[in-house]
Amino acid sequence: MDKFLGYRCSLCQRQYLSSQIQYTCSDEGGNLDVVLDIEHIRRFVSPSQIFAQPEPSIWRYLPLLPVGDPGFEGTPFRRVGWTPVFETPKLAQPLGLKTLWVKDESRNPTASFKDRASAVVVARAQEIQAEVVVTASTGNAGAALAGMAAAVGQKAVIFAPKTAPPAKVAQLLVFGAQVILVDGNYDSAFDLTIQASQEFGWYCRNTGYNPFTAEGKKTAAFEIWEWWEKTRHQHPSFKRLNVFVSVGDGNIISGIHKGFKDLLELGWIEQMPRIFGVQSTGSAAIYNAFQAGTEQIVPVAANTLADSISVDLPRDGVRAVRAARQSGGSYLAVEDAKILQAIADLGKVGIFAEPAGATAYAGLVQAVQMGLITAEDAVLVLNTGSGLKDVKAAMQAIPQAPIIEPTLDALKKHLAK
Ligand SMILES: *Cc1c(COP(=O)(O)O)cnc(C)c1O
Ligand SMILES: [Zn+2]
Repeated sequence: MDKFLGYRCSLCQRQYLSSQIQYTCSDEGGNLDVVLDIEHIRRFVSPSQIFAQPEPSIWRYLPLLPVGDPGFEGTPFRRVGWTPVFETPKLAQPLGLKTLWVKDESRNPTASFKDRASAVVVARAQEIQAEVVVTASTGNAGAALAGMAAAVGQKAVIFAPKTAPPAKVAQLLVFGAQVILVDGNYDSAFDLTIQASQEFGWYCRNTGYNPFTAEGKKTAAFEIWEWWEKTRHQHPSFKRLNVFVSVGDGNIISGIHKGFKDLLELGWIEQMPRIFGVQSTGSAAIYNAFQAGTEQIVPVAANTLADSISVDLPRDGVRAVRAARQSGGSYLAVEDAKILQAIADLGKVGIFAEPAGATAYAGLVQAVQMGLITAEDAVLVLNTGSGLKDVKAAMQAIPQAPIIEPTLDALKKHLAK
C-alpha cells in the first residue's frame, strides 16, 4: 500500500519502516505514530470526493487509513462509526451556551467508541494474516475486538479484570471470544497480555501499544471535521470548535489529535479544534502531568466508578498531554459525583451514557464554571459508551422507582404524595 510509509516514535522521532517494527519504539518504548504519504493521498483524493460517498462508516476515510480495503460488506464490521451528532438545547441553555452538540458513540456496533480502533486493528490483522488477536481491556476494548473479530471470523482472546461490569463480560462471551478474567486490575491484565502475545505470537491490540488503535480512533476527528464543514455556516458567530473527550489511557484523545494533524498536513483544515481531555479525579495521571506543565506521567492508584477510564499508568499519556497542549485546549478532572450527575443530565435529552461516556460532559460543565468555555464557543462533547454497559452505575445516578400495589387506589395515593 503506497500511502502507508511506516512509523515515527513520538518520543525520540526515530523512523521505522512498516516491516521493521510492530508495536512501540525499540529504544525507549515510546508510542509510534503511523506515517502516511500525505502527497500521495492529496494527489488521489479530495475532501469533496470523500464527502460525496454513500459509505456510512469509518471506511469512507479508507484513503487516509494505513490499511487496504478490508471487505466484509454487509457485516457489523462495516457499520463502525458515522455516529450521529445531536443538538442539545436543553443542556446548552443552563450552561449559557448558544448550542451544544453531543456525538453519540454508543451507537457503534458494540456500543462504544472502541469499535473504531478494533475495526482497524482487525483489518490490519487480516492483512498480516494473524491467527489470533489478543487485548487487555477494562471491557469495551475487548467487547469491540470480540465483536469485530466475530463479524469477520477472526479468533480473539481477551484479558479483563474480574471486576469488569457484567454486561461487558457478557458481551465478550456472547461474541465468542476466549475470555480470561484476571484477578487484578486493568494494568496487570495489560502486562500479562503483552507477555502472552510475545510467548504465543498473538497479534496484540493493547491500547497505547499497537499503533493502529490511534489510526482507528482518528476517524472520529474526520467525522467531526466533515460534520463541522457542513454545519458551521449555519453558525457564523462561532469562533473555534472545542471538542471534549474523556481520557483513561489517553489513546482516544491522541487518535483524535492525530486525525486533525493529518487534516492540517493535507491542507484540508486551517486550524484544528481545541481539544479538552477530561479525567476522573480518582484516575488523573494525565491531568496531573498537564497541570504540572510536563510530559512526565506519574502513575496513580486509580479509584473511580468510571471503569473505562480507571487506569494507574496511562499507556498513551505523553501524546495525550500534547493533544490538549498543542491544540490550545486543556485538561479537567471531575469527581465521581459529577460524573453521576452528568449521566442524569444526558439522560434527560435522550442520551444514555456509561460513567466514562458522561465524563466528557461533566468536564464541560466544569470548564464553563471556570470560564474556559463561553457563549462564543462552539462545543462538541463525545459520549464514548452506552449506559447499558454499566447499569449498576446508572442506578446510582437517579432516584429509585417506587413500588406500589397494582391498584388504582394505591396509584392515586402515590401520585398525591
Ligand atoms: C476506553 C474508553 C475511554 C477512554 O479512552 P482512552 O483511550 O483509554 O483514553 C473513554 N470512554 C469509554 C467509554 C471507553 O471505553
Ligand atoms: Zn523512540
